[in-house]
Amino acid sequence: MALALEGGTLIDGSGRDPATGTRVVVEGERIVSVGGQRPRGAEPLEVTGFTVLPGLIDLHTHMGILSVAEPEAMPPAVAAAHLFRNAELCLLSGHTTAREVAGADGGLRRAIDAGLVAGPRLFPSGPALCQSGGHGDLGPPFLPHHHDPGTPGLAQMSMVCDGPDEVRVAARTAFRRGATQLKVIISGGVVSLTDRIEDSQFTVQELRAAVVEARARDTYVTGHAHNVASIGNGLEAGLECFEHGTFLDEATAAQMAAAGAALVPTLTAIRLLATDWRAWGVPEAVLPRVAGVEEAAREAVKIAYAAGVRVGSGTDILGPEQHRRGLELTLKAEIIGPMEAIVSATATNARILRRGHELGTVEAGKLADLIAVAGDPLADPAVFDDPDRVVLVIQGGRVVKDTRSQAG
Ligand SMILES: [Zn+2]
Repeated sequence: MALALEGGTLIDGSGRDPATGTRVVVEGERIVSVGGQRPRGAEPLEVTGFTVLPGLIDLHTHMGILSVAEPEAMPPAVAAAHLFRNAELCLLSGHTTAREVAGADGGLRRAIDAGLVAGPRLFPSGPALCQSGGHGDLGPPFLPHHHDPGTPGLAQMSMVCDGPDEVRVAARTAFRRGATQLKVIISGGVVSLTDRIEDSQFTVQELRAAVVEARARDTYVTGHAHNVASIGNGLEAGLECFEHGTFLDEATAAQMAAAGAALVPTLTAIRLLATDWRAWGVPEAVLPRVAGVEEAAREAVKIAYAAGVRVGSGTDILGPEQHRRGLELTLKAEIIGPMEAIVSATATNARILRRGHELGTVEAGKLADLIAVAGDPLADPAVFDDPDRVVLVIQGGRVVKDTRSQAG
């Protein structure tokens, strides 16, 4: 059955100016035409007054990290219920694709692909690889070494590994559980108690072991990195993508651009940490570490764009009720403008995922992941921060949310 979205304003994700009244025709799971006639028998779907966009992509999710405090305190059934709810909230907020960079593993992807759980197209990393005493090794410092066992097949925050051999085993384990890329922790973190945000973590040799394992599977490694020393190590080892990049400088941004490496800033979590830290199980002792991070992160976005770095979009939201993913576009729009914020969360994110040929823009031949929002996101980028104003979500040609009739 073909669908024809009729009468909306189209922002196609490429950065082109909006087009009014453009008909988008979907057949099966794909877009078959943009701006053409309505084929005979196609069901019209009226979107006049709404803005149609590609499904949004969040490259930095932790749907499976419900609390950083005591993961063992939650029964697996309750954790699963929260995880599935987070997956559904992600989809209903207009994010039709997500890259889980620590948390859920290939188990969630299978549940979503089988239609058992509503959720985004999932690119799971499984547990993040981190070193002893590094960000992700969150145990009390004076107790025996903390190994978060997680619940394989559901979620695990991190896997501690030291030395290239252990990194290799951890990488292979992540892939065995369905990882589509690897996430490594290469600098200190904000939500961390036994390191400094200025620290670099893992040696270049350890990181190379992860890169070799990823390349053997035609995929890549992304690294959690707040500072430039760690980004330098990551570039030397062959990492293709860096998360956060808070204290990026011009010289390092130029190196990233030359290497074709991407940056995924995460402005949302930094903003929400101030109000949501309790709900996320973040220890109060962490709060002083947030000081100055948001200002630096906003400056890093400017530096990256100026250097020509490919800048993606991620949220880094934690906790049991993850419903504000669209805030990332709202915050990004303040820095680089609403159109660039949209391109970042659609076309650019798709390319970072290596799925630019089938996701990220509204074009004939691509997968039909489409949303409609009630409002003009170029004049009012806050529209993305209100899931109720995301009135239509189509994923792979299937309407998974339709609240058009309730939109004033
Ligand atoms: Zn994160």
